[in-house]
Amino acid sequence: MYDVLRASYRFHCPHRPEGQLRTVALSRFRSIERLPGAAHPAVFRVTYLCDCGDDHVGLVAHDDLDYGPIAATPVEFRNLVTGRTEPVAGELVELTRAQVQKGNWPWKLFCGREAKLKPVFPSSLALVSPADSELVGVAMHCPSCGELSLNVVSEAHLDVPFYHDRVVRLIDRPFLDSRDLTVDDFHERLWSAGFDAERAKLAS
Ligand SMILES: [Zn+2]
Ligand SMILES: [Zn+2]
Repeated sequence: MYDVLRASYRFHCPHRPEGQLRTVALSRFRSIERLPGAAHPAVFRVTYLCDCGDDHVGLVAHDDLDYGPIAATPVEFRNLVTGRTEPVAGELVELTRAQVQKGNWPWKLFCGREAKLKPVFPSSLALVSPADSELVGVAMHCPSCGELSLNVVSEAHLDVPFYHDRVVRLIDRPFLDSRDLTVDDFHERLWSAGFDAERAKLAS
């Protein structure tokens, strides 16, 4: 499901049913919604921007969504020095363990209510939308307080586990109630005239 070497999830493209799975980085997800019912494992409905240019919908198990990027998915790569095919899962698990022990976490986003960066998982994201050429807007349900926060981050901040932007921008409290946040509201907010001003005064 997850392609560790490309830091991407893999999905079918309905336009190419016989074709190879397409790689889709987290920053190209557009919405993530937990399906009611299924619990073991939980299943998420993901809308993603495919490299064919269309948005598609796929289902992802909770483990794949949150742990695929950091866990022991068996991976082999061709070592160009030795010419041998070698497994890398053990090294990746070791890297993850060392980072978490240092207090680093694969993904962090800024919670407006708590006014601090919080460790999150991909399943904490509700909506993702391009904000400008290099930035994406993220609507995040904080795992600790449940509040919805809107952040603006680089693609790499989402796509590369343990990599964090120096500044994570928060769009402060745009909605009275998180249930009011529709995709259209979110886009409008990201592109609103106040966006630049808000970005400039935001906390790190
Ligand atoms: Zn496609
Ligand atoms: Zn919070």
